[in-house]
Amino acid sequence: MSKIKVMSENLANKIAAGEVVEKCASVVKELVENSIDAASDSIKINLQDGGLKEIKITDNGAGMESEDALLSFQRHATSKLIREDDLFFINTLGFRGEALPSIASVSEVDLTTCASTIGTHIHIKGGKLEINEPSDARKGTIISVSNLFYNTPARLKYLKSEQYELANTVSFIEKLALSYPNIKFELTNNDKTLVKTSGSGNLLKTIHEIYGLNVSSKMLEVKGETDDYTMEGYICKPEILKSNRNHMITIVNGRVVRNNDLNRAINDAYYTYKPDIKFPIVVLKFETDPTLIDVNIHPTKQDIKLSKTDELYKMIIDTIKDKLYKELLIPNALKEEATEISLPVAMIKNEIVTEKLEENENKISEKNYQTELDLSIKEEQEEYHPTKREDIIINPELKKIVLYPVGLALGTYIIAQNEEGVYLIDQHAAQERINYDKYLKALKEEVTTTIAPLFPINIELNTSDFLTIKENLDTLTKIGFNIEEFGLNTFIIKEHPTWLKRGFEEESIHKIFDSIISIGNKFDRVKFNEHIAITLACKMSIKANTRISIEAQEEILHELVNTDNPYNCPHGRPTIIKFSIYDLEKMFKRAMN
Ligand code: ZN
Ligand code: ZN
Repeated sequence: MSKIKVMSENLANKIAAGEVVEKCASVVKELVENSIDAASDSIKINLQDGGLKEIKITDNGAGMESEDALLSFQRHATSKLIREDDLFFINTLGFRGEALPSIASVSEVDLTTCASTIGTHIHIKGGKLEINEPSDARKGTIISVSNLFYNTPARLKYLKSEQYELANTVSFIEKLALSYPNIKFELTNNDKTLVKTSGSGNLLKTIHEIYGLNVSSKMLEVKGETDDYTMEGYICKPEILKSNRNHMITIVNGRVVRNNDLNRAINDAYYTYKPDIKFPIVVLKFETDPTLIDVNIHPTKQDIKLSKTDELYKMIIDTIKDKLYKELLIPNALKEEATEISLPVAMIKNEIVTEKLEENENKISEKNYQTELDLSIKEEQEEYHPTKREDIIINPELKKIVLYPVGLALGTYIIAQNEEGVYLIDQHAAQERINYDKYLKALKEEVTTTIAPLFPINIELNTSDFLTIKENLDTLTKIGFNIEEFGLNTFIIKEHPTWLKRGFEEESIHKIFDSIISIGNKFDRVKFNEHIAITLACKMSIKANTRISIEAQEEILHELVNTDNPYNCPHGRPTIIKFSIYDLEKMFKRAMN
């Protein structure tokens, strides 16, 4: 009976195929998710020509009895899915009921499956059942889909090149492997292994198997929770950033999702630890009550909306920032040796699957970088009250670093040393970090010390800028300005905070106005503070090609190691690079191993 129904709905299936099946990766997705639902712990994906010719999935899951196998090709034949918005209420993955019949209507499907003693072999071509016979009793399912869209030339045209289709599938399987560390995945194309994980159940090991040692050795474990969410997983040290967001992997209730809020929070947490144009590698798993998730009804189901995100956002930022803050993040000049890292030895000996680490060209340009020569360092005039950041227990490791200056190279890099090795410190970047911390703390002060300039400062603006500033006079008052309107489009500043650099008051005020104007009506005090702090810090720091005394170097080093993040300037550039004694001995062949 079910057989007849499958045939009569062939047309509907072909139409639905257009929605469910867009590319080879979507076929792989549907089939692999079936395997996961069938409780497989080993899934092989063998592609021919990137899947354009054939996609074959072999699993060791529960398999199907003959009747169920036939039913699975029937539209909406599913015991798992009740309504689309039930997707997150149930523990199964897929958009069942449509996928398999749709795929079968536009390709050739060969299925061998067995749940108990007698297996079933089914062959369907363009939706027509051609073979249905008993087969051997290997537990699990083997399904192959070949010649996708052979009977729908219009759709066939939409399939991209082999490389494109393959890249999509690889990326999907990598993410899936990371969300299921307990499942063994193997993906091959034309018999070449592209992804291979061991199903060890260990997320870090899976990260290692996907990204290789260079990445896995630089991942940091994080854990956090709110009343509604738990988060755990790994984030990368800022030295191994990527040029795109593809490696920010977020998994909600077991499913890889795309969610801008999550991505933004993660990115914001790395604020000043990385340049804006670079993105971290993270694998973060979130668990929450399914009622807080709104699933987009598109069958690919990757886009979701989350509720109660304010707390979640804050938790993500605090957890990641805290982790970065507590870690030693000085990049080694040489790549780390396999033997030096703390991964299990067995894991290191494992073959390392294709490593895909793009070289990070770090061509960060800083505006204002070379604009003005300015040697003086602003004197500290106030004692800063401890801010929230300082309540965190300070990493004893971090404070242990004492750097002794040796001298200045190229008028730009401080050479320093301690018992662990030799360090190069970018003097501008280092001082920028120091000044950034000072400004940020000053801006957060409840009470600011102000000073009245000898002559009030007049600032004239165009009308629109004038109006923006006028709207934000409150903010300016709060940070210590006594400011009033003074005639047409002009403000008069009678008092200003003491932390404005002497001799540069007017220029600094212009910069502060610019920040307010650039943030515009989406004014946000936190962003404003950060923006001002970066701008002023860059301006007030010694630029490259400037000789400074050994005492000044000593002071910079001392202040740097006491900042919240001594490893990056506020633009995210590194401040400090280390040559360990071991590195040096290796380079000079003193150590031969
Ligand atoms: Zn700068
Ligand atoms: Zn910088």
